[in-house]
This record gives sequence, C-alpha cells and structure tokens, in this order.
Amino acid sequence: MRRNRRVKIVATLGPASNSPEVIERLFAAGVDMFRLNMSHSRPPHDAAKAAYQAIRTAEARFSRPIGVLCDLQGPKFRVGEIGGGRAELFKDQIFRFDQIESEGSAQRAFLPHPQIFEAIEPGHTLLIDDGKIRMQVMDRKPGVIDAKVIVPGPILSRKGVSMPDTVLPIDPLTEKDKADLDFALRLGVDWVALSFVQRGEDVRAARKIIGDRAAIMSKIEKPSAISDLDDVIAASDALMVARGDLGVEMPIERVPLLQKEITRKCRAAGKPVVVATQMLESMISSPVPTRAEVSDVATAVFDGADAVMLSAESAAGQFPIEAVSMMDRIAIEAERDPMYTPLVHATQTPPLATGADAIAAATHAVASTLNLAAIACYTATGSTALRVARERPNLPVVVLTPVLSTARRLAVAWGLHCVLTKDPDDQADMVRKACEIAAREEFCKPGEGIVITAGVPLGSPGTTNMIRIARLDARGAPVAL
Ligand code: PEP
Repeated sequence: MRRNRRVKIVATLGPASNSPEVIERLFAAGVDMFRLNMSHSRPPHDAAKAAYQAIRTAEARFSRPIGVLCDLQGPKFRVGEIGGGRAELFKDQIFRFDQIESEGSAQRAFLPHPQIFEAIEPGHTLLIDDGKIRMQVMDRKPGVIDAKVIVPGPILSRKGVSMPDTVLPIDPLTEKDKADLDFALRLGVDWVALSFVQRGEDVRAARKIIGDRAAIMSKIEKPSAISDLDDVIAASDALMVARGDLGVEMPIERVPLLQKEITRKCRAAGKPVVVATQMLESMISSPVPTRAEVSDVATAVFDGADAVMLSAESAAGQFPIEAVSMMDRIAIEAERDPMYTPLVHATQTPPLATGADAIAAATHAVASTLNLAAIACYTATGSTALRVARERPNLPVVVLTPVLSTARRLAVAWGLHCVLTKDPDDQADMVRKACEIAAREEFCKPGEGIVITAGVPLGSPGTTNMIRIARLDARGAPVAL
C-alpha cells in the first residue's frame, strides 16, 4: 500500500476513534502516525494501551510501519476553586492571586503554583481560560500577586492560567509527565511530544531521561520557545506548531507568520515539522469543512510541512474518517498543482558541508538529470533519509531499513515511504533488492530507473557514502548501470 502524497497525516486518538475497527479505517483513509494525548489519560491508561495494541495489529495487517506519538501534558497551571463555581470580574478592578487554600471570589483566588509567585514581574500579562480574561500584573509580594483586569469576564473554578511573558523556573517534565513517559516508553511509542517547551535546555533535560528509546518532538506554544527557536530545533528531533496554545500565549494574528517561520527553519535544519490544531475544526460536528479550513491545510502543504495534524476532529468528533479522507484529498490536490514544486522550493535548503548532505544533493541531481522514477535510500538510523527528504525531491523516496523503530519514526517525515528489509549481503544484492522493492511498492515500472544511496561497508550506521544508478529491464529484472 502506498500513499499518493508527500505530506503525512497525524491523527489524535480519543473516544471517537480508540476502537480497533476505527483505527484500521483511519489508517486505510490516510493516517501515517497516531497521537495519544496524555492530557486525557490517567493510570492505568487502559484506553491508551488498547489503542497502541490496535495500531500494532493494523501495522501487521497492512504490512506498513505506523508511527505512534505520545503527547505529554506538560506543566499546565490552574486557579483553585471559586465559590459557586464562578465569579464575574470587571474591567480595571484589581484581582489578587494568593497561596491561601480556600474558595476564591470576585476579589481573589488560590493559585496552587509557588513557582509563579517567584518568577512573575509587574508588567507581565496573566491570562485565564485560554486568554478569555486578560490581566496585567501590578504588584508582587511574597505569596501575593495583584493584577489589573484588562479584558474582563467570568472566572471559573480550575480554569487554566498562562503567563506568556514569564520564564518559569520549572522542571520541563511534571510528576505526571514522568509517570506517563515511563508508561509510554514501556509501551514502545516511537515519538514523545513535549508540551510548553521554554528553551533548548528543556529538551536536553528530557533527552537525558528518554535517551534513544523514542524520538523527541517539541511543541512550540510559548513565546520563550520562539525566542530560543534555533536552540530548540537543534536539541529536538522534530517540532510541532501547536497553534492552539501558541494563539493564546502570542497575539493570534502572529500565528500564521510563526507557522511559516518555524516550518522554514525546521526544513532548513532537516527536522520534521508538524502543523497542528483546528485544521478541520468544523468537522468535529459537520461532514464538510469550511473553505477557510481547506485553504489552511493546503497552505501547510504548499509551505512544505512534513505533516498536518487532526486533534479533536479525529479524537472526539462525529466524522473522524471523513476528516482524514478530506485531509488526504486536499493534500493530493495541492501537490498535483503545477505551482506546488516552485512554492515548496521557494524555501531554500542548500546542502551543508557534510557527507550525508552531499550525497542527498547529488542523489536529487542524478535523479532529475536522468529522469529516474524513484530514490531508494538504505538507512539504519534514518538520518540519511531525512537529509534526502530535506531536499524535497520531486520523485518518490523508498527508505529501506532493517530497523523497525527507524521505519516507524520516519512515518512522520515528508515523502518517505519506509520498507522494513534485511541488510543486503553485497552490492549486487543491494541493487537487486532496491529495484525489486521499488517495483513491488509501485514506484518503478519495467524500463524505468532508480538511484540508490547506501553506506559501504553495508550495514554500518552513519556511513552513507555511495550512489548507484540502476534500472529495470523490459521484463522487470534489475540491471545495475
Ligand atoms: C496545541 O496547543 O495546539 C496543541 C497541539 O496542544 P494540546 O492539544 O495539548 O493543547
């Protein structure tokens, strides 16, 4: 089975889609990677466990590697209880946050997070309930924050609190995150997403715990992560443009520009980038999206993003399969447009002075000069395949790897079709195998040619140093050139 598009689709699982039947149908409709959202999972995580098993069953049934992403909740701050559940706040009043563990009112509320009292400064913005209430901090004393209400509204018990200007002295992984992470790594997920990353150092701290058991995707949703974007990219294996919280913490009109900047920088670095949140939001309750949503998905495709993501549409909506099929159709149509290639290549990704980049650039040049049908890329760690994808070549890339976790991780990367196969015995076997698999997976027909990249000695990771050209003869037999 092959996809007819280069961009990948990530779908979040939830009550609408956790069952084995729906997971199979979602994969058949186009999902390349499934997201388990730990914000909605508590021990013993039965639903997440069952969903994971169902994904692996679908993987075996379709004989295609499928990625699994575990998205950690991250540090989420909330106000305490409010008497009667809610209180009305008025413009220009002073509202107090304190550390007194009692029901709040229209004048004050308990804020059970001592770190905020240490780091927030007068002049900083404080947002309640996804930014519905906006305040400005006027004064901070030990255990007390006084803030002026700029945009008023009702404050409800346990609503979220965001501080876009404040860099908090917190461990990037909460106790819940650490427990969830332990569960997810034992389960065998391929990717871990870190929420509310503030700086590259947060990612390095998480890497010390995760090691190489999973790849790390940093969610960009804080202004501090934007300020430290280059280092966050350097420390991460991939990024997610988490437009939901990003649009709360930053002026919402900046979200499209930040999406483009993050996409461009990730592409330049050769790190996968996922565009997420509200892509087909109206499909939570409607079988047809709005024209604006269709255009939003197409824009991410034209920007050359690696993947587009569904959240509530597939997790809790009424039309999860339709939402995936819709994304698939939008992507196929956008990629067929004659403007697609010039638009994607408007983002320049010149090769860096490394062997892998030199091979990737040469592969692309050979394939287009000779009008070949596909690139076949032998890889153990996946790094050469990512350097090839970074070039956004306009022909299919078949990734051949003996490492299952590599095939699964690359499920999120632009244009890579991964096939699990044993390392070739010798160079003749390497050519034969690449031609046979490219033909079997419908990327190459008799009479057509492919370009092959590999590392010699065969089977040793990190040594990609070779390009071979091969073709299938009129009867489909491989011929090395
Ligand atoms: C987001 O904020 O856009 C996002 C993807 O994160 P979450 O779904 O965890 O809010």
